Formats: sequence, C-alpha cells, structure tokens
Amino acid sequence: MPNDPLYDRYMAAHRELRTHLRGCSSCADDDLCPDGARFFRALAVLQDQHLARQKHQRP
Ligand SMILES: [Zn+2]
Repeated sequence: MPNDPLYDRYMAAHRELRTHLRGCSSCADDDLCPDGARFFRALAVLQDQHLARQKHQRP
C-alpha cells in the first residue's frame, strides 16, 4: 500500500473525534460541544478532500 498522507490524516481525525466522543459527556449525536464540533469539522474537510480525490481518480 503506497504512502498516503491524506488518508492517514483522515483516519487520525476519525480517531480523534471518536476518542473525544467517548470521553465527552456534553456531546450528543446531533449536538456537539465546541471541541467536538472542531474535531467534526476537521474530519469533514479531510473526508471531502479524500472523496474528491477518489472521484478524480476513478472516472
Ligand atoms: Zn464534546
């Protein structure tokens, strides 16, 4: 498997969000605390980039 920094960052963001949600009593499914929202936005940006790149590679 080739080195893929974007995918690594995407997975790391996913882990960070999951770890936060597990330890945070303020976050609900549709109501994240400020920290949770920050992790979620970071994950969403990386997910968009990852999916956009996949679309680009697969015509
Ligand atoms: Zn939270």
